[in-house]
Amino acid sequence: MRSVSVFGATGSVGGSTFDLLMRQGGPDRYRTVALTGGRNVARLAEMARALRAELAVTAHDDCLPALRAALAGSGVQVAAGRQALAEAADRPADWVMSAIVGAAGLEPGFRALAHGGTLALANKESLVTAGPLLMATAARHGARILPVDSEHSAIFQALAGEDMAAVERIILTASGGALRDWPLDRLAAATVDQALAHPNWAMGKRITIDSASMFNKALEVIETREYFGVDPAQIEVIIHPESLIHSMVAFRDGAVMAHLGAPDMRHAVGYALNWPERAALPVARLDFAAVGQLTFRAPDLARYPALRLAREVMAAGGMAGCAFNAAKEVALDHFIGGALGFAAMAEVVEDTLADLSRQNCLGNAPPTLEDVLSMDHLARRAAEKTVQARQSRR
Ligand code: NAD
Ligand code: MG
Repeated sequence: MRSVSVFGATGSVGGSTFDLLMRQGGPDRYRTVALTGGRNVARLAEMARALRAELAVTAHDDCLPALRAALAGSGVQVAAGRQALAEAADRPADWVMSAIVGAAGLEPGFRALAHGGTLALANKESLVTAGPLLMATAARHGARILPVDSEHSAIFQALAGEDMAAVERIILTASGGALRDWPLDRLAAATVDQALAHPNWAMGKRITIDSASMFNKALEVIETREYFGVDPAQIEVIIHPESLIHSMVAFRDGAVMAHLGAPDMRHAVGYALNWPERAALPVARLDFAAVGQLTFRAPDLARYPALRLAREVMAAGGMAGCAFNAAKEVALDHFIGGALGFAAMAEVVEDTLADLSRQNCLGNAPPTLEDVLSMDHLARRAAEKTVQARQSRR
């Protein structure tokens, strides 16, 4: 029996993972080692019962009594807190889904790699903040990282059997997010609800807002560089409003391999779950006559400063990716909380990076996970200061 763990089981990607595990045989086929979630303990308990998990962990200490009550008599062990999450990752599993959102997903992923199994990586922040270290850790333990971000799964599939030396360009598609067609002068005043109205994908709140600002695509450009090891100049972004091409690889003979499919994360999750086989998956089939046309347009960098920042972060190297992600998370928190406007998020990230760069903090690539976590902490503090300074100027 294959053993599995799902970090961030109660989220959007976690829910797709649970759905596929159940459809593909549930507890008869998979031994579920650990499932983790946040405050939604009822959902976590329901999943743990259905999969007969050995352990269920909530990220929040104050949620432990509720989780314990919900799982009374089930035989599922319960735990809470950050340390418990990390320890859950110390329990060996053949296949581990990393689907916690944000830098909080870093540590469980790193710990899971130590067992040398497969890490299905939805948590792109792991590659953005600590790409070289993550890849080296996987190599050292003989572990495999399979990309779950839809673009990176698409690229991975387009590259199957190909020689990386023959790759000319990787073309990441982007929907453009909820505010794609807004006039530029209105963008600065966009609200959280407006940014949440994604045209094609149903995803968690944070990544949906990041799609509207294209911070998500900025993270994905860096993720592409780290995972596939290509030069930043080889990575392009193109707006493709239909979201049916999930990304493309262009080769030196002029051929372009595009990956198409319905916008449903169960494809990318299911591919990583069943790899190297292709299993039958419950995703909608494309009807090309009904689709009619696929359209493309170049992204406007004035509208999406995050894309320019991603280039600067890659050029800076070292800890810049970690600082970029941390500052972005803080700015996003303040946008959600109402303290920052939509356009101010990119300004806060840019100012924070400039501030840390002046202090020579972005330096060399981090040698250990602890270095990454302390940089993450430092960059969050710097971003908070940037936000406060803006507010006192107002
Ligand atoms: P989500 O917000 O729906 O779910 C996040 C999960 O992480 C939940 O289980 C939540 O309880 C848990 N979590 C949140 N904060 C935590 C913390 N501090 N400590 C421990 N657990 C915590 O997020 P999502 O949309 O499923 O995204 C998950 C990851 O997958 C992100 O890195 C995202 O960028 C990536 N991703 C998501 C999609 C998508 O379609 N949703 C697509 C590609 C990549
Ligand atoms: Mg994506």
